[in-house]
Amino acid sequence: MTVGVTHVDSWVKSRIREEEYVKYIDHGRDFIPQEAITASLQANKNPDPKRVKDILAKSLAVQTLEPDETAALLNVGDKELLQEMEEVARRVKRKVYDNRIVTFAPLYMSNLCVNNCLYCGFRKDNHRANRKVLSLEEVRRETEVLVGEIGHKRLIVVYGEHPDTDIDYMTSTIETVYGVKINTRNGWANIRRVNVNAPPLSIRDLRKLSAAGIGTYQVFQETYHRRTYGELHPEGTIKSDYRWRLYCMHRALEAGIDDVGIGALFGLYDWRFEVMGLLYHARELEGKFGVGPHTVSFPRLEPALNIPFTEDSPYKVADEDFKKIITVVRLAIPYTGMILTARETPEIRRDVIHSGVTQIDASSKIGIGAYAANLQNQEGSKQQFLLGDTRSLDEVVRELAWMGYITSFCTAGYRCGRTGRHIMDLLRSGKEGKFCKLNAVLTFREWVDDFASEETKVVAEEIIIKEVDEIKQAMPEIFPQFMKYYEQIRQGGRDIYF
Ligand code: SAM
Ligand code: SF4
Repeated sequence: MTVGVTHVDSWVKSRIREEEYVKYIDHGRDFIPQEAITASLQANKNPDPKRVKDILAKSLAVQTLEPDETAALLNVGDKELLQEMEEVARRVKRKVYDNRIVTFAPLYMSNLCVNNCLYCGFRKDNHRANRKVLSLEEVRRETEVLVGEIGHKRLIVVYGEHPDTDIDYMTSTIETVYGVKINTRNGWANIRRVNVNAPPLSIRDLRKLSAAGIGTYQVFQETYHRRTYGELHPEGTIKSDYRWRLYCMHRALEAGIDDVGIGALFGLYDWRFEVMGLLYHARELEGKFGVGPHTVSFPRLEPALNIPFTEDSPYKVADEDFKKIITVVRLAIPYTGMILTARETPEIRRDVIHSGVTQIDASSKIGIGAYAANLQNQEGSKQQFLLGDTRSLDEVVRELAWMGYITSFCTAGYRCGRTGRHIMDLLRSGKEGKFCKLNAVLTFREWVDDFASEETKVVAEEIIIKEVDEIKQAMPEIFPQFMKYYEQIRQGGRDIYF
C-alpha cells in the first residue's frame, strides 16, 4: 500500500505521545545530566593509578561503575595502565561470558524513512537512494538464504520509520521470518531469535512487538549530547524529539519487552561524552526497572552514498580511541552484551574483539533484498552505509575458532525465561555461563554438521573436543544429559537445549 503525502504527514504528527515519556522524568530533569558529564570528564583528568586499579577491581566483581569512576577510566592516557585496563576487560568478559561469541546477521526490511538524519543514507532527502520495501514473499526468500545457505539462527531485523512499515508490517515480517524452516545436510534449520532495530514506538505498539516473540528491542540514541542531537535531526521530524527516543527503553520495559539494547553512533560528538551517556542510560534502567541493557552497541559512523556529513564530521573516532571505548564500556557495565558490527574491517574486529565483545555479525548484507539477489556490489545505491567486513559466516567462525572462541548459536535464553532481571542476576553471579556453555556447544555442533566447510570443520572439531572436556570436568552432574542431547544432535535432532 502506498500512502499519499498528506497521510504521511498526519501519521508523522500522530506518532509522539508526550504522556508516554513525561511520566518517567524526575523533577523535570532528564537522566543524562549534560553539564555534570562534562564536569566529571574535566574533574577526572589524569587519574591516580592507584585509584584506577581500585576501579578495575570493582569491574572484576561485575559491579556497574559510578560516573566519576568511568570518567577516570576514559581519561587514562598512560600506555601501561591502558594495557592493564584491556587485560581486566578481557578477564571480565571471560568471567561473565567465557570464550563464547554469538553471531547474527542483519536483515534490512525497508529503506523508506520519514526522518532526515544528517548521517544516514535512508534520510528522506537522499534522492539518490532507491526506495524499497520487502514484500512478505521477499522476506521469506531473504530468510531462506540466511537460514538454509549460511546457517544463521539469529537475525536483527531493521526498519526505517514510515507508515508503510509500521507496527503491523513489523509483526507480519517477523512472523514470516519465524515461519521459515529448511532441511539441511544433517537435519533442519530455522531462525530462533529475531532481534529488532526499529524506531522508538508507543507502549501499545511495543506490546504488539513483544507479542510477536522478539528477542532484543534495540534503539540507538545516536548522540546523548542534546545540542548535537538537535543539529543532526532536523526539526519537524519525529526523530528530532530527543526525549521520545531517550525514554523508549522505559516504554519497552513497561510493555513487557525484557531485553533492551542501547547504543550510540560514535562519530557524531565527543566519544567520551557518549560513553558517559551509555553508562547513565544503563544506570537509569537498572535503578528504575532493576534491568540494565541486554546489549550495548557502538557503531562508528561510516561513509554513505550522497551523505557528505559522514566524511565531514569533526568527531570521527580514531581506531585507538575505538578500542578504548570498547574497553571502558566492558569495564563500566560489566554484565552487558556488547555488539561489534561488520561496519568495521576484519583487522579492527580481530584487534578489538578481545576487549570485551560478545556478539558479531557475519555474511552481512544491508541492501534491501540483497541476500536473495546475491548482491555483491557494496556501492549499490540501496546501501545505508558501506560495510567494512563482508566475510562469510564460515570464514568468521573459522577465524574465531583459531583465536580460541566458540561461536554460539544459542537462542535458548529468552525462550526459557532467562531474560531481563532474571538474566542480570545469573550473569552477575556467573551462573548464566553454565547454561550458555552447554547450549553453545550443542548449537555449534548443529551448525558444524549442517554448514561448515571442510576447512572450518578441522579447527571446529578441536574446539568442540576441548569444550566437551571442560563440561565433563566442571559439570559432572549434567554431563550425561549433555551427552545425550549431543548424540541426538549428531543423529539429526535439532533445537535441543538446556
Ligand atoms: N530507523 C531506525 C532508527 O533510526 O532508529 C533504525 C534503523 S537505522 C537504519 C539503524 C542505525 O544505523 C541507526 O540507529 C544509526 O545508529 C545507524 N546508522 C545510520 N547511519 C549510519 C552511518 N552512516 N554509519 C554507521 N551507522 C549508521
Ligand atoms: Fe531514518 Fe533511522 Fe536512517 Fe534516521 S537513522 S534516516 S530514522 S533510517
